Amino acid sequence: MRCAIVGSGLAAIAGYATLRHGGIRPEELTVFGTHEDPTAAWRERASAIRQRRMRSESDGHVAAAAFPGLAVRETLREGRLKPLLQTATNRYHPLVEDFVRHTGRVVHESGWERSFVRHRIERIRAVDGGFELDGEGPFEHVLVATGHPGLMRIPNAVHAYEPHEYASRVAIVGVGMAAATEWLNALAAGAEVISIRRREPLRRPLNVPRPYFSKRGLASFHALSDNDRATKLHELAAPSFPAGPEWDRPLASAASEGRLTILRGGSEEAQTWPPDLQVICATGFRKGYSHDPLLADLVEAHDLPTHERWIVLDPDSTIPTLTDEARTLALSGVAAQWAFPAADTIAGAKYAARAFLRRLCRTR
Ligand SMILES: Cc1cc2nc3c(=O)[nH]c(=O)nc-3n(C[C@H](O)[C@H](O)[C@H](O)COP(=O)(O)OP(=O)(O)OC[C@H]3O[C@@H](n4cnc5c(N)ncnc54)[C@H](O)[C@@H]3O)c2cc1C
Repeated sequence: MRCAIVGSGLAAIAGYATLRHGGIRPEELTVFGTHEDPTAAWRERASAIRQRRMRSESDGHVAAAAFPGLAVRETLREGRLKPLLQTATNRYHPLVEDFVRHTGRVVHESGWERSFVRHRIERIRAVDGGFELDGEGPFEHVLVATGHPGLMRIPNAVHAYEPHEYASRVAIVGVGMAAATEWLNALAAGAEVISIRRREPLRRPLNVPRPYFSKRGLASFHALSDNDRATKLHELAAPSFPAGPEWDRPLASAASEGRLTILRGGSEEAQTWPPDLQVICATGFRKGYSHDPLLADLVEAHDLPTHERWIVLDPDSTIPTLTDEARTLALSGVAAQWAFPAADTIAGAKYAARAFLRRLCRTR
């Protein structure tokens, strides 16, 4: 069997670990990617916003088996029960450094380096016997995990996901997790902060409500018509950050000291601000398959069904017109939202990976 993963980030390593756990050998797997370290692209963004803890919980790790999660590992390592007690009430969020260290171990133990080829794929074509990737192959089963197609930028502003320090007056555009983290960072650095927002932030623990990670919640999502599904995905894309005093206290005290001001508006206003004001855009990523040259080309070449900014997928994250009993083309990561609304999470990567493995096992 010849299988390929296109992309080399967290979704790719979660997929690779799942396939290895399912009995696929490194010789049967090729990973085409830009970074040999699958945490590299993600770490750059997390460290730019000085993220200390994961938003995900104990099971937010890239190993194939859910157990033991990161809370159990921390409990055993540190000899204290707190992580386990916190996880019982969904309040455990692993340290970023623990997540990265654990991912490193999965990379090493899975044999990832034996399958990794440094190469950015530009063309996927369905051919007899599977798919050609830039003319190589055919590969019978391909999992595409190319991540976000670039940052959503504002002219003259630094992006929150790029390295930066804080000036004495900082305007931060956005109301999601990155924006909230940046408000606290800039305040802690002694800056005066202006939060530019079009709407009030939603407060929720995970980036998508918990039911959408469950079988039942997904079944109702999959039962929606295309239009309703797109409406739901727009609604779920609203920026949010968790509730809790660790956010509210510093924000309330900064507001009472006059160091945090809220201004209604969007990126247009930020462009006309005085030059001494540092503008940080916490505006996330460009949205939709059409911004990813590889996916845009694939859609055009094979006339794939799309709906607004999404490629239409089956519930198992496969592209229906290019998947049958003998071959599989599946998406993982943000591009797979049509199948799994929280596709851009580690849980989402595992959802796509497990479905991909099930297909491989059926054709084996
Ligand atoms: C700051 C931040 C914090 C987050 N925190 C959490 C969290 O706590 N928990 C959670 O579950 N999720 C979290 N997420 C969401 C999600 O886990 C990340 O976005 C994660 O990086 C997604 O993995 P990915 O593999 O899809 O994308 P990426 O990690 O971006 O990897 C994609 C890789 O594929 C490569 N690539 C792209 N195109 C090609 C091509 N044509 N050929 C070959 N290679 C290609 C890219 O260069 C990149 O290396 C967070 C996201 C961000 C930005």
